[in-house]
Amino acid sequence: MIQGKGVSVFSGIAIGTAYLYNPNQQHFPDFCGDVQQEQKQFDNARETARQQLQELFEKTQREIGQEEAMILDVQMMMLDDLDYLEEVQSRIQQGCSAARAAFDVGNEFSDTFAAMDDEYMKARAVDVKDMSRRITTILCGGQSGFSMEQPGILVANDLSPSETVQLPKDKILAFVTKQGSTNSHTAILARIMNIPSLVQAEIDLTESIHGQQMIVDGFEGVYYLQPEPEILQKMQQKQAQASQHQQMLEQYRGKATITKKGQKMKLFANIGSPEDVKYVIQGDAEGVGLLRSEFLYLGRDSFPTEEDLFCAYRTVVGELGGRPLVIRTLDIGADKQVDYFGLEKEENPALGYRGIRICLTQEEIFRPQMRAIYRASAFGPVSVMFPMIISVEEVIKIKEFCAKIQQELSNEGIAFGDVELGIMIETPAAAIISRDLAKEVDFFSVGTNDLTQYTLAIDRQNAKLGKFYDPHHPAVLALLKMIVDNAHAEGIWAGICGELGADPTLTETFLAMGYDELSVSPGKVLELRKTICESEV
Ligand code: PEP
Ligand code: MG
Repeated sequence: MIQGKGVSVFSGIAIGTAYLYNPNQQHFPDFCGDVQQEQKQFDNARETARQQLQELFEKTQREIGQEEAMILDVQMMMLDDLDYLEEVQSRIQQGCSAARAAFDVGNEFSDTFAAMDDEYMKARAVDVKDMSRRITTILCGGQSGFSMEQPGILVANDLSPSETVQLPKDKILAFVTKQGSTNSHTAILARIMNIPSLVQAEIDLTESIHGQQMIVDGFEGVYYLQPEPEILQKMQQKQAQASQHQQMLEQYRGKATITKKGQKMKLFANIGSPEDVKYVIQGDAEGVGLLRSEFLYLGRDSFPTEEDLFCAYRTVVGELGGRPLVIRTLDIGADKQVDYFGLEKEENPALGYRGIRICLTQEEIFRPQMRAIYRASAFGPVSVMFPMIISVEEVIKIKEFCAKIQQELSNEGIAFGDVELGIMIETPAAAIISRDLAKEVDFFSVGTNDLTQYTLAIDRQNAKLGKFYDPHHPAVLALLKMIVDNAHAEGIWAGICGELGADPTLTETFLAMGYDELSVSPGKVLELRKTICESEV
């Protein structure tokens, strides 16, 4: 038996088979024994890749612009690079499968480009890797990397936001990652999915883990590989107790969230995609207080169209059956990077070109979002909020843009409803000028993950700084109080949608401050409702 520690991001017990996720060690088809056959497969895959890239090129050119499309043009040229083709051919002749050869040569060429001094050539590293992965994926039958035959525990070094969105979520019982912080998007996803998970786990990521029996104890922050029978039995008991506790919480399903003295609180849920609505219903949330719409942009090759976004929002509205939905506009940048945005590498991405800064400077990215949101509002209660606000001027620009979109839709005879406009308060600047901001909007939602990061000047993603990242810091709490007071002074409501909203040790503080809404992981709603209903505040 191997036992190790990690930092728990969600409680609970998971027992299952370990699946090692290693994007650099895909499981490739074996060499078929015939060099010509492998070479032919490679040539065919190269042609399919060319067609795919051509289609993507045309779509990007049409919908985004020539400059962005040129990235794909470069990749198409790389398909004919003689050095690359000769190297793949030589590997196949040495007995490598076409998929393995394409994958390895792509990685090696990418490393060579990355080491060059010339900035342009350096930047091509990602293109050659992308182009080669496309061929590999085609050769692996369209499976990009990872599949799980049965439900199990996913073990990885780390997972980028775009990797997490491509995982077979319905099969994952728990996450265990060697890196990552409690605020990383894998952690956020684990909380949405209501599954026990560990980050910063002390674990050797050797191939031998794959297929072993594993237990994750999210209560204690411990995992076991090939557990001894006594441990297995103990954990099964613990799992049964957790499910009894869950059963007990069922009495709060459908109940009003109200303290003994009659103070009400709205309890909403945070989600990332239409698939997550099932957790909202399971968790009995009263609505969605934060739909992180950037998740709809991750794990794809090109921008979602207005229609793609509208379909996603329309589905969520429909499945929520009248419960309110707050959609946050795109918050890409910082830790959530997407190649097709073509964003330049930045020294300080968390302080860089992200969130509303992208929308306010690239109308072609903002427009489809706002049109889709307004169109979805014709089918149920929809509000919108904007991330990373720092000034009243930004809000005025946003409101002008929204008015323009409404006008456009009216002219086109397209229906839309009343959409409340809110902002995320997640920068100290926004908190400090919240009285002025409150005059301009219908509600505030406090993003405590970023508010803590920016107030304390501590990178929320840096695992080493976990000890210093203290959302209970008096400065953060003082800002939280200031925000809700300013909201109420101007007659608007205020909620909290950062992770702190689910912290039961602060529930009474938030009630005393007067917060109107908490938007938390769906699996936390019943527990919080119990806390609030039992509260003396
Ligand atoms: C936050 O910053 O608290 C928040 C809710 O947004 P995100 O975690 O997506 O940055
Ligand atoms: Mg944020």
